[in-house]
Amino acid sequence: MLMLQQRQQIVDYGVKMVRSGLTTGSGGNLSIFSAEDNLIAISPSGIDYHDVTAADVVVVDRVGQLVEGGRKPSSEMGFHLALYDARKEITAVVHTHSVYATTIACLHWEIPAVHYLIAFSGDKVPLAPYATFGSDELADNIIASIGAYNAVLLANHGLVTVGKDMESSFNVAEEIELVARIYYQAKSLGQPVLVDNDEMKRVADKFSNYGQ
Ligand SMILES: [Zn+2]
Repeated sequence: MLMLQQRQQIVDYGVKMVRSGLTTGSGGNLSIFSAEDNLIAISPSGIDYHDVTAADVVVVDRVGQLVEGGRKPSSEMGFHLALYDARKEITAVVHTHSVYATTIACLHWEIPAVHYLIAFSGDKVPLAPYATFGSDELADNIIASIGAYNAVLLANHGLVTVGKDMESSFNVAEEIELVARIYYQAKSLGQPVLVDNDEMKRVADKFSNYGQ
C-alpha cells in the first residue's frame, strides 16, 4: 500500500480530531504530502472518522488524479492541493468546523493577538472570503488570505491550518480553537486588550526555539 505510514496517521488524527472536539462525525478533513513520493494522502469523503481505515484513505497526485484507494477523496481536495503548491515548506493540512473559530468566521472577523498563543498562526488569524465548499474559488480565496500564516478562517465555514508535519498542523488547529474561544469570551465581557506587535515578535522568536 502506498504511503501506508501517512495513511495510518490520517486515520489516527481523524479520531483525535473528533475526540478533542474539533469536529463531529465526518466533518472536516486532513491530508499529508509526501515529498519522497510526490503524492498526497487525503481523508475520504463522508465516512465517520471512527470507521476510516488506512485503506479508505485516498492517495492522489499533485493535480488530484487518483493513484490508489477505492474511496472518493474529501470534497475539499482542491484547497489541500493548492496549499501544497503555494507553501513549499508544509506537509500537512487540517480543516475543521471547530465551533469557536467558526463562530468568529461567521462574523467575518479575523482573530487578533488577543492571547500570545495566536503565535501558532502568526500575529493573527486572517479570514478568507466566503465561497461554496469544494469550489476553485474557495481554494483561491484561501491562498490569497493565508499568506505566510499557519491558519486561516473560512467565512461562514470553518478553519484551515498548515504545518511542517501532521502533529504541528493539528496543534495549530487545537490552539487556534482555544484562542478563538478566549476571544469570544473576552468579547462578551468587554473589549479585549491585545498583545502589541513588539511582544508578538518576541513570542514568535521564542516559539521558533521552543520544545525538545
Ligand atoms: Zn468544511
